[in-house]
Amino acid sequence: MGKIYNVGIIGGGISGVVIALQLAKYGIDTVLFEQEKSVVNGPPFCHLHAGGNLYPDISDDQCKVLMKQSIDMARLFPQSIDERPTFISIPKSEKYEVDKIEKRLEMLVEYYKKLIDEDPSNEILGAPKDYYKIYTKEDLIALTEQPIVKRPNSSDEWMSNAIKLIDHEKLKTPVIIVQEYGWNLFRLGAQAQLALKKSEKCNLKINTNVTNIKDVRNQNLDYNWEICTKDTLYKVNYLVNSCGFKTGTFDESLHLNSERLIEFKAAYVSKWKPIPGLIPEFVFHGERGTPHGMVQLTPYCDNYYQIHGMTKDITLFENGLVQSKGNEAQPEFNDDINQKLYCGWEESEIKTRTKNAIEFVAEFVPTFKSATVGGPPLYGAQQIPGDDLSLRVGEVSFPSKSYARSEIIKASSALTVANQILHKIQEEEIIPSIHTEFNQNLLLDSISKNEIDKLACELAVQRGYPEALSRLVIERK
Ligand SMILES: Cc1cc2nc3c(=O)[nH]c(=O)nc-3n(C[C@H](O)[C@H](O)[C@H](O)COP(=O)(O)OP(=O)(O)OC[C@H]3O[C@@H](n4cnc5c(N)ncnc54)[C@H](O)[C@@H]3O)c2cc1C
Repeated sequence: MGKIYNVGIIGGGISGVVIALQLAKYGIDTVLFEQEKSVVNGPPFCHLHAGGNLYPDISDDQCKVLMKQSIDMARLFPQSIDERPTFISIPKSEKYEVDKIEKRLEMLVEYYKKLIDEDPSNEILGAPKDYYKIYTKEDLIALTEQPIVKRPNSSDEWMSNAIKLIDHEKLKTPVIIVQEYGWNLFRLGAQAQLALKKSEKCNLKINTNVTNIKDVRNQNLDYNWEICTKDTLYKVNYLVNSCGFKTGTFDESLHLNSERLIEFKAAYVSKWKPIPGLIPEFVFHGERGTPHGMVQLTPYCDNYYQIHGMTKDITLFENGLVQSKGNEAQPEFNDDINQKLYCGWEESEIKTRTKNAIEFVAEFVPTFKSATVGGPPLYGAQQIPGDDLSLRVGEVSFPSKSYARSEIIKASSALTVANQILHKIQEEEIIPSIHTEFNQNLLLDSISKNEIDKLACELAVQRGYPEALSRLVIERK
């Protein structure tokens, strides 16, 4: 008789790997399936949403959840966090009010203090008093007189470097620097994969597509599910579906009715001239989906920059958002989007969309006009449970016994979901009750920076991106 695993996880995106790592930490036998060559190979991420400041419209509660979850993830994967702050601004043409953002930031500082009171190790965004700083027009004019600093150390130095490049006449004042950091997906993927390969408790199956699952819960066997791949059948007691935007496929095979949206989006890689001092991430708010949607410029090493532009010519796509219909739990994209998802992009579209993105940034950073295409886009589809497109915190659901469905919207929710599943499998007595404690995962901690550097670089190159995208702008000591 083949081995029976406590838990089978389908999908090795950030959600699946964090679940597998948490279970391995407590010695729970797990098998994790990922159809691609390496883990964390789905839709990209670059921003640690430690406060939800990229979203002027979301509730205070969602902002607090994003902050808490981001801190948890940053503590787990410090080697993937790029400690450069974010410049937040509202163009004069936009409806958002700076006042409202400021009030929310004050609320977030209080919440951050509370998290630090609960556990001093939560202080990963710097001192609460420095979480954000606002700059009036007069402050900005004064800063333009300051020298450029090669590697800034304070909000003033970051702002001083930024404001020399930005056409601030186009922006409402004040503008803000906030400690929302960068998040490197290649480094996180590398560390997770190395740790899982080292684990005696997790059987990591990459290059392995799950073709079918069989529900044998009523057959009085020693296990509940059969997971089928091309040539092998795996027996498990508890099933976790973390297939990202394909989550509905297995829901359908289980005849479970569930509603979801799936959305295809892309960010563009550009290369610019060398500039004398590091800059923060730039965010110019705007209404999503309109021709003046948000612009986000994310700095990487060696003069590479990633660009999001929340318009249909850049990050969003005509028919890029689809919803499940009737009894179908899995929404389907049209041929054009499927072509990009599964077969790659036409060279001409890469050029056109990256150029659109560069021009969009140049509206606020005029000299950025000289940037050129720096590599293929980072793209993918993500899921949103239910039908609310503005939701930013999706989590886990337990539609039936021995079955969990992870549907995270932001990568930062992965640890929360993993802990909820850990709790559930104890409640369902799949494993005996365990004493859980926070953070530290010795498996992850046993992976050295050199190992992460090496594999992260290999992953970037293997996926067709410049190796510079695997490094941190603010190199960790
Ligand atoms: C353009 C863009 C930018 C984004 N930026 C950010 C950001 O800055 N910050 C942030 O927090 N979030 C960001 N997100 C969201 C983030 O990418 C997602 O929340 C996150 O990647 C979801 O992780 P996941 O593990 O749930 O799904 P996925 O990463 O999609 O993982 C699912 C995995 O399941 C595998 N799989 C599916 N079916 C099978 C099968 N049958 N057998 C085996 N394997 C299978 C897939 O290959 C895939 O690897 C962004 C998303 C996009 C599209």
